[in-house]
Amino acid sequence: MRTTDRCHVIGGEHPRHGVVISNETSIGPNRMNPHFSLCRLEQYESFVGAETVERILRKARRLQGLRLIHVSSTFYGGGVAEILSSLTLLQNALGVRADWRLIQGSPDFFGVTKKLHNALQGAAINLSELKKSIYEEVSFQNATRMDLKADFIVVHDPQPLPLVACFRHTCPWLWRCHVDLSQPNQEVWAYLKGFIEQYDAAVVSLPEYAQQLAIPQIFFMPAIDPFSVKNRELSEEEIVDRLRHYHIPDDLPLVVQISRFDRWKDPEGVIEAFKIARREVDATLVLLGNVAADDPEGQAVFESLLDQREERIIILTAEDSALVNALQRRAAVVLQKSLREGFGLTVAEAMWKGTAVIGGNCGGIRHQIQDGANGFLVSSVTEAAERIVQLLEDPTLRQRIGQAAKETVRERFLMSRLAEQYLDILSDFEPSFPIDHRHARTRDIRMP
Ligand code: UDP
Repeated sequence: MRTTDRCHVIGGEHPRHGVVISNETSIGPNRMNPHFSLCRLEQYESFVGAETVERILRKARRLQGLRLIHVSSTFYGGGVAEILSSLTLLQNALGVRADWRLIQGSPDFFGVTKKLHNALQGAAINLSELKKSIYEEVSFQNATRMDLKADFIVVHDPQPLPLVACFRHTCPWLWRCHVDLSQPNQEVWAYLKGFIEQYDAAVVSLPEYAQQLAIPQIFFMPAIDPFSVKNRELSEEEIVDRLRHYHIPDDLPLVVQISRFDRWKDPEGVIEAFKIARREVDATLVLLGNVAADDPEGQAVFESLLDQREERIIILTAEDSALVNALQRRAAVVLQKSLREGFGLTVAEAMWKGTAVIGGNCGGIRHQIQDGANGFLVSSVTEAAERIVQLLEDPTLRQRIGQAAKETVRERFLMSRLAEQYLDILSDFEPSFPIDHRHARTRDIRMP
């Protein structure tokens, strides 16, 4: 059956994808919005060119109907959820049947996985037998409940890593690690390696994160979705509306950091740098943050900052992608003063909006910012303060840096590039795990 076979379609059938929404169904008292549709790769043409779009479509044609399952630990909060929200939709628009599953876990489990995450980024840990047994037992319980029938499985980050040990290996399994592996705790690495090497390959964001492993390692960086609420163009009115809604004054230049409340993002360092900079320039600091569902430490980090609030130091938490967008657009300077950073989507997001970014000189930030050309890299609070002052005092510099930043993201960090890299990996594995193309059929998705 061809993927373009007809079903009930609202707003026209998607040209190369079998997913259609029946107009016979409705949710609650209202019918579905007739304008819903998947973002199609063709929409990237104005950013990446027709040739690139055609090349990616050609690669996708060979993989129609491939059943791909991504597994992660949260639908919400943090970069992995952000990437998968867009990536899985684009993969479906390309004809790959990408599904996204979550593992469940007790607070104990997520307490342990957060410690493993921290240890992978170099923190100390007391890796007791009790922690290992909680980690492995909850993984086993998740595997018991999960049905992973697929042609390809991608497991994201350490939380669901042990799942691989619980299933028969009938298709390729890929471990996608998003954390900064520049200096992993060796004891934790040795323990997790036992699971990692049961995968067919591991993907990490940077070549410098490569480890001694018996399986192939692939390197590619995350990317952003230029059409999401977080990244699309906003009108002046929309920006002002979002800022007013949260009582954020814009009478003075805004210095902004947007991050999960996490010590690795150095929110204390941001406040300190801002206080030093303010001795020379007037500005307002906005620290917007959230707490991911799988992060038991976030609330305490948030609360520890609250004493620092004052009229010109705004610390808030709000689940509002349009606010993130508005702040990244309206900011005179965006900071991402991380001490470790696997990639740092917030950097690419702000750069895409033509905003000057000051980033911590670490991990993936170093691969996005070329110091002095499209942003600034800093290694201390004092350096951050100096760059804040310099940028706030020089609008021409801000504009030059911002323009170069936007171009960097257009060339290297849009979701079309990431979708293509996944297609390449899927194709590379196809000869050893042939895809059953009978799955390339029209799916009739009925809204509940
Ligand atoms: N984010 C958000 N609201 C917040 C804080 C963060 O929407 O209050 C988003 C941010 O825009 C980005 C993601 O969460 O899309 C964070 O990804 P990043 O790679 O920067 O860091 P991670 O949290 O994965 O370490």
